[in-house]
Amino acid sequence: MKILSAASEIYPLVKTGGLADVTGALPAALAEQGVEVTSLVPGYPAVMAALEKTAPFHAYADLFGGPAQLVRGRAHGMDIIAIDAPHLFDRPGNPYLGKDGKDWPDNAQRFAALGKAAADVAGGINPRFRADVLHCHDWQAALGPVFTRFLGGPKSVATVHNIAFQGQFPASVFAMLDLPQQAFAIDGVEYYGNVGYLKGGLATADAITTVSPTYAQEICTPEYGMGLDGLLRARRQVLRGIVNGIDTDLWDPERDPRIPARFGAKSLKQRTANKRALEARFKLEPGDGLLHGVVSRLTWQKGMDIFAASLDALVATGARLALLGAGETAIENAIFEASMRHPGRIGVIIGYDEDVSHLVQAGADTILVPSRFEPCGLTQLYGLRYGCVPLVARTGGLNDTVIDANDAALQSQVATGFQFSPVDEATLEHALSRAAECHADPKLWRGLQKRGMEQDVSWGRSAAAYAQLYRTLAKA
Ligand code: ADP
Repeated sequence: MKILSAASEIYPLVKTGGLADVTGALPAALAEQGVEVTSLVPGYPAVMAALEKTAPFHAYADLFGGPAQLVRGRAHGMDIIAIDAPHLFDRPGNPYLGKDGKDWPDNAQRFAALGKAAADVAGGINPRFRADVLHCHDWQAALGPVFTRFLGGPKSVATVHNIAFQGQFPASVFAMLDLPQQAFAIDGVEYYGNVGYLKGGLATADAITTVSPTYAQEICTPEYGMGLDGLLRARRQVLRGIVNGIDTDLWDPERDPRIPARFGAKSLKQRTANKRALEARFKLEPGDGLLHGVVSRLTWQKGMDIFAASLDALVATGARLALLGAGETAIENAIFEASMRHPGRIGVIIGYDEDVSHLVQAGADTILVPSRFEPCGLTQLYGLRYGCVPLVARTGGLNDTVIDANDAALQSQVATGFQFSPVDEATLEHALSRAAECHADPKLWRGLQKRGMEQDVSWGRSAAAYAQLYRTLAKA
């Protein structure tokens, strides 16, 4: 079984978010399921520099404005085909934005090239490779299924990692795509008179997936669907959610070189040394009382404005907070001001720091994730693995991966964390009080930690679900 996976990011070559983690982790996890994955990515400078053992794969005289080569090679154990199109991709920095922080003006051409090359490669433009299924991720690759549907090719999967990003362009872009006129229609790329790349992919793919079952349901509603809910409701029978896994080698509390004291479910006492180190790093008063942790983009999506407004209430429960994050200035300022009001109780590091993120998961008692929407979420999965009890909004992947410590769940010993809904200050503050109550009972708290650590958060199950989907499609 051969799959062509097309995406604009792949860890560790190019990453701006969780998309890269998924496309970077799936090839190895799928290999264990007997599925061979070749990954098609734009030839950004970092991609071209990382490729080894390269061989020419195909030459285009013109690919959306200039000549281009497809080059096949290996990087970090993965089989990669890069689109070496200097006029589109030979630009440093963020893959989508210029130096001014705005989208590149030719993003329609750049990601039309990704979709076109995906369909060409999957369909056997080079007779040495033909995919059984084409798997396209997010709007940047979403024209892949459109080209295969209208011009021929294998069955396709479109995966939504975040429906907030859709790739919408003026109607004039349609002529450039060189598709038959009937593709500019309700079951093609036409979207309110314009061209929608993600819309086109969702209308034409043989299967649609997203990164959790709850998010799969949510995006069928006007509240979360961002305009695509009607289409998704119509295609509900081919839509499903498959929860992301995490890299359990990189995130392993028994072997993590980034934390002062390594520990497992049977040696939770060792965590205390990490808590002391975390307190020191965040200039918090030391103590065994409840210490909440946050590692997050400080944005509206993450509910961080509401969280900032609840910080006095958090301190009033007797708890402390270690927060690592960066994002919107107003939220950063509100959190910083709260830390000035509560020295020793609220510690803040504004910035992005992988090492500190591991220390928070290893030393804090909870990881707080109050997102307004969360397609899957990773930080709560790290928390589960590190005995750092997740306190999360009941939405998307957070709903699917954390079991709320209500009375029934506590009695039947299945609870792994705390959920609250809807996302507002009152419900968040109620959840903070519940966590404080539970933390006061050490046996109960250890139960939450241990059950979390027993959860399977690896890629194994997700890879099996993708493999099954590919097989069903290839047979149909
Ligand atoms: P999203 O992709 O929407 O930001 P996820 O929870 O899926 O949210 O993934 C966020 C990832 O980024 C996690 O690996 C998290 O640890 C990491 N992260 C977020 N903010 C920071 C930060 N300030 N420093 C270090 N890592 C961070």
